[in-house]
Amino acid sequence: MASPIYRRGDRKSDSLVRLLGVTKTYKQPDNYNIRVLDDINLEIRPGEFIALLGPSGSGKSTLLRIITGLSTPSYGTVLYRGQPIEGPNPHATMVFQSFALYPWLTVQQNVELGLVAKGVLPQQRRQRAIELIDVIGLNGYEDAFPKELSGGMRQRVGFARALAVDPELLCMDEPFSALDFLTAENLRSELLDLWLESRIPTRAILMVTHGIEEAVYMADRIVILSKNPARIVADLPNLLPFPRNRKSTEFVQMVDQVYKIVTGWDEEDEDDLDTAELASPSQGGEARPRLRPIPYGHISMLSGLLELVSDRGGHDDLYRLGAELLLEVDDLLPVTETAELFHLAEVREGDLFITELGQSFVEQDINERKAIIRDQLKDIPLFRMITRVLASKANHAMNKEFFNDILEEHFSLEEAEHQLMTAINWGRYADIFHYDTDTEQLYLDEDQTGDPIPAETQDS
Ligand code: ADP
Ligand code: MG
Repeated sequence: MASPIYRRGDRKSDSLVRLLGVTKTYKQPDNYNIRVLDDINLEIRPGEFIALLGPSGSGKSTLLRIITGLSTPSYGTVLYRGQPIEGPNPHATMVFQSFALYPWLTVQQNVELGLVAKGVLPQQRRQRAIELIDVIGLNGYEDAFPKELSGGMRQRVGFARALAVDPELLCMDEPFSALDFLTAENLRSELLDLWLESRIPTRAILMVTHGIEEAVYMADRIVILSKNPARIVADLPNLLPFPRNRKSTEFVQMVDQVYKIVTGWDEEDEDDLDTAELASPSQGGEARPRLRPIPYGHISMLSGLLELVSDRGGHDDLYRLGAELLLEVDDLLPVTETAELFHLAEVREGDLFITELGQSFVEQDINERKAIIRDQLKDIPLFRMITRVLASKANHAMNKEFFNDILEEHFSLEEAEHQLMTAINWGRYADIFHYDTDTEQLYLDEDQTGDPIPAETQDS
């Protein structure tokens, strides 16, 4: 394959993209604003391959859309080569997780799309598309339709389409996460080869991912976002030489280092609010105290994790635990955060340590376990609010919708639903309240009402 070699030899000081104080808020149906991105300052220079890591829902896709000009910041400035971006940035393209191919167009036609939009003549379009289809290893499939291709092949078309327009900046939004393990691994190393050998004219790559290993394997700079709202909590160079070996000590150390930052990102800066304040939020527009979100850890996962750590002698490396439980960091973190919230475990420098309470949780039967969780839930404002509302009703019951409304004052619609479903999962486990899925009613367990317990139900 005789593809040209492109030079990226810019002075590193020239910046391609500069974000200055970029903030993004979304208006909720009730007119309140939810702040998703908060004061993001970021510079992307030619020659850089940046991985953007962060928990799901933190605002990674939003940031990518702002950088490509598909969305505008609420405050702050986005400069491309020193000029403010107005509308879609013609020098940037995006590869999506979901391939986003047109099913009625052939591979070749899909790849040509971006060139059509640029007004490139048909003859040149065809030639460029054929070259790119060759570069990404799909020659012979020019006339195939997307439905005839495997997921991996479709994503190759996605890459070819993005690369066909010779973008200076290639943005990728979790491009490998919908692919099976081997396909993803192949595509990663092929894309990396194209980039490292300068066989594509792309000047910089920005890849959103939630895979720490993927970031350490591919990128030479790793930017880590927090959540609610997203701020940059770390910006690390990754100087490991290529080709990178996932088993090397240096690689494992780098993964560990990133893990430590990722697990330490919840700064204790929001004071927990008084429950009265939660149920009757302040009036008016922008600024408003926010309820501290609870992590989405499922109790069954929590038990599994604690049992495993206990078996390991009481502590283990988070990264290894994640690998063993086949959990991505996105799935493991809410569980470790839940363990910390309940004082069952502590995360220190990338290791999870079981606490005395956690150890007794592991050793107890189900009823004792429930009692431990019940005890912990009493200190959580969201639970105090729910139980107080339920206790104040004569029938000790309330529509789920009512709590949704309260939570939507503090979170986006989607987040409010997640928060409430997690709260319901924990509360049901701990026998604090019950939830009837048909009527969508929450009601307080008799033992929690403070009412005298009828004799006949006392030991049921
Ligand atoms: P990520 O890509 O990190 O998972 P997103 O950027 O997709 O996160 O979303 C960040 C937050 O912004 C989420 O809470 C999401 O619900 C909210 N959000 C994203 N797009 C919109 C929109 N168009 N309107 C309202 N809220 C949105
Ligand atoms: Mg996303």
